[in-house]
Amino acid sequence: MRLSRYFLPVLKETPAEAQIVSHRYMLRAGMIKQASAGIYSWLPLGFKVLRKIENIVHEEQVRAGHIPMLMPTLQSADLWRESGRYDDYGQEMLRVTDRHGRDMLYGPTNEELITDIFRSHVSSYRDLPLTLYHIQWKFRDEIRPRFGVMRGREFLMKDGYNFDLTKEDALHAYNRHLVSYLRTYERMGLQAIPMRADSGPIGGDDTHEFLVLADTGESEVFYDSQITELKFGDREIDYDSREQCQAVLEEFTSRYARTDETHDEAVFNQIPEGRRRVARGIEVGQIFYFGTKYSEPMGATVQGPDGKAVPVHMGSHGIGVSRLVGAIIEASHDDRGIIWPEGVTPFHVGIVNLKSGDAEADAACESLYAALEAKGLEPLYDDTDERAGGKFATMDLIGLPWRITVGPRGLKNGVVELTSRRTGESEEMSPEAAVERVAQIYAPHMVRGI
Ligand code: ATP
Ligand code: MG
Repeated sequence: MRLSRYFLPVLKETPAEAQIVSHRYMLRAGMIKQASAGIYSWLPLGFKVLRKIENIVHEEQVRAGHIPMLMPTLQSADLWRESGRYDDYGQEMLRVTDRHGRDMLYGPTNEELITDIFRSHVSSYRDLPLTLYHIQWKFRDEIRPRFGVMRGREFLMKDGYNFDLTKEDALHAYNRHLVSYLRTYERMGLQAIPMRADSGPIGGDDTHEFLVLADTGESEVFYDSQITELKFGDREIDYDSREQCQAVLEEFTSRYARTDETHDEAVFNQIPEGRRRVARGIEVGQIFYFGTKYSEPMGATVQGPDGKAVPVHMGSHGIGVSRLVGAIIEASHDDRGIIWPEGVTPFHVGIVNLKSGDAEADAACESLYAALEAKGLEPLYDDTDERAGGKFATMDLIGLPWRITVGPRGLKNGVVELTSRRTGESEEMSPEAAVERVAQIYAPHMVRGI
């Protein structure tokens, strides 16, 4: 993309309404614009990051054997009356009436809708196990939307639902989700710690929330510092193997890590004092096993091996896709702007032309641009005639992890400069070497999506 043809409305001033750094930088970097309280337009740069996050989520869900689909945002109230949640959900549910006087709602989550799809099409245990998921906008009429996309009213969520014959099978699905989530967040450059949590209106006993540690997080968390040393890394996992998934769950949940809802001071105090941590965290996902809570009232049964109809065991599993954009910024920034992890950066590399209009510099930038694109990379080329200082400030603000600086002086010696946004370190090299280096850096981060 050439910056002169892009739409990147960066702001020089810090917007007064933004209380936390991610919200400030998202506004300043021209990623979002508030449409009304807790509802945002995703401007091109923000939209690109959102898509990258979505693609990683898709890849990891499909890798775990889960099946993508898409359900609508507007749902019929009748289904929610069947489960009993139409009245229970309260004021967070946005209720609307269509022209025929039918009660509808903008889905805050999808257990009812997916259960209805399941019961309409699946009747035998032979069709299990089954996990379906989608990434779709949700609406919750939060009493206090704040912190930009972190607590919106309209927000993008991946929600997945497993259907299994037995509790044991459903717990395997739970474990599989836990593993796939660990991989997902790590690919986004995040450490998200699974913590024992409370199930809230979704219901059920088994649940973990995934939290990214950050001072601006809304949840108070208590944990054993040893848990922050765990990495999933690039280990291979067979998602069909109960033993392997169970082993990962045990590894990542055996140390104390809880939100304030489930915190137990007595158990916490058994951890050696030097390892006890009380901090704040951002909830970026949650997994639940809730048995037959929806399948029973809604009649989602299958015929078991003995011919008897039994309600299926279910769980639901969510990732806060739009909240993650903010969470990643909270975890990765400095006083000049965002520092995107390679996995989610909107563009892979910025090209800064120090002397737009200079024939040699222009030609070198054009050929760099073409060479990067030929490698399947997405460069953002600042071809405007803004002065160098302004170009650097914009690049720093929008946070591309790598920048190639091209100027007449370097070109005389046949070199350009490759700079890391994270460390600030620069290295001179030939344009060809810079393209090679950037391609190598991103090789493990190329996302196909679905
Ligand atoms: P919270 O406790 O933050 O209100 P929740 O527990 O009600 O969230 P879930 O039903 O578990 O939310 O939804 C799955 C994920 O969706 C959450 O882990 C979170 O990352 C994201 N999410 C929930 N509510 C919002 C919101 N208002 N704005 C942005 N993301 C949200
Ligand atoms: Mg939750």
